[in-house]
Amino acid sequence: MIVLKDVEMKEYSNMKIGGIGKELIFIEEKNELNTVLKDKENIFVIGNGTNTLLNDGKLDKTFVSLKKLQKIEELGDNRVRVEAGIDFNELVDYTGEMDYTGLENLSGIPGSLGGLVYMNGGAYGAEIFDNIKEVEILDNQFQLRTLKKEEMFFTYRKTEIQEKKWIVVSVTFKFQKGFDKDRVEELRGKREGNHPLNLPNLGSTFKNPEGYFSAKLIIEAGMQGVQIGGAQISMKHPNFIVNHGDAKFEDVVNLVNEVKKAVKEKSGIELKEEIIIVK
Ligand SMILES: Cc1cc2nc3c(=O)[nH]c(=O)nc-3n(C[C@H](O)[C@H](O)[C@H](O)COP(=O)(O)OP(=O)(O)OC[C@H]3O[C@@H](n4cnc5c(N)ncnc54)[C@H](O)[C@@H]3O)c2cc1C
Repeated sequence: MIVLKDVEMKEYSNMKIGGIGKELIFIEEKNELNTVLKDKENIFVIGNGTNTLLNDGKLDKTFVSLKKLQKIEELGDNRVRVEAGIDFNELVDYTGEMDYTGLENLSGIPGSLGGLVYMNGGAYGAEIFDNIKEVEILDNQFQLRTLKKEEMFFTYRKTEIQEKKWIVVSVTFKFQKGFDKDRVEELRGKREGNHPLNLPNLGSTFKNPEGYFSAKLIIEAGMQGVQIGGAQISMKHPNFIVNHGDAKFEDVVNLVNEVKKAVKEKSGIELKEEIIIVK
């Protein structure tokens, strides 16, 4: 494992906000997890940081990264075990090389596989759990366990993994043959067109309430373009908050609260954060 002390954590969040973390540990082999973590308190697993807003004060936490766990194993019969640290788009490219279909609709999501599974991330009517057979986790007793998908609770952007504070170590997929390259290219292009990728952001700030789109509710509440400090509701995609370079943690949190208030007043609907806020 690699242990870094007093780490500038803004480098590890896609929002480019974050203070000094007490410790950042890069796990190099999954069996290190148990030894490393059992004596630690205040652990936070950081993936690609594409959904995580970090406080810019002192962060009294041990951040753990599985980024070095990236192994892909072919198990036969189109089953593939993948370690959680892999960048999700590298995995999509791998399915392309192997002619597997199943992940195309999610292509372009910039997270790690572990983050995507933790969030049950999804797009265009698909979710990461759709093609999963099993998930290997480190449980609260620091034991590695493999759970079948049928044994796990998951729903829209919510999983048992969050509630139980498990760590995703690897994931076994079962694919079909027939990768759809055109769909991947189409969706990657669409993301470039619709998302403010030129500025630091965390993707969708709010979950879509059942039957509604948060982006539309935000426009109707007159909040698109509103700016607090360096943080702004994107003009390109109103469910995104962008950092103009000098945004503070408080700017983003205040903007989140302002949006929630305005939407509640306008439509009576309570928005819930999709982003993870680490205080
Ligand atoms: C431009 C842009 C577009 C996006 N589009 C989408 C989209 O279409 N659909 C979508 O669902 N999301 C989208 N997102 C959000 C984000 O990419 C996903 O939620 C992604 O799955 C987060 O992965 P991550 O590795 O970056 O997680 P992080 O932000 O690092 O972490 C998110 C949460 O997951 C936990 N976590 C990370 N790794 C593990 C692990 N191995 N075990 C246990 N917990 C872990 C963290 O502790 C944290 O609570 C987008 C983000 C951006 C910036």
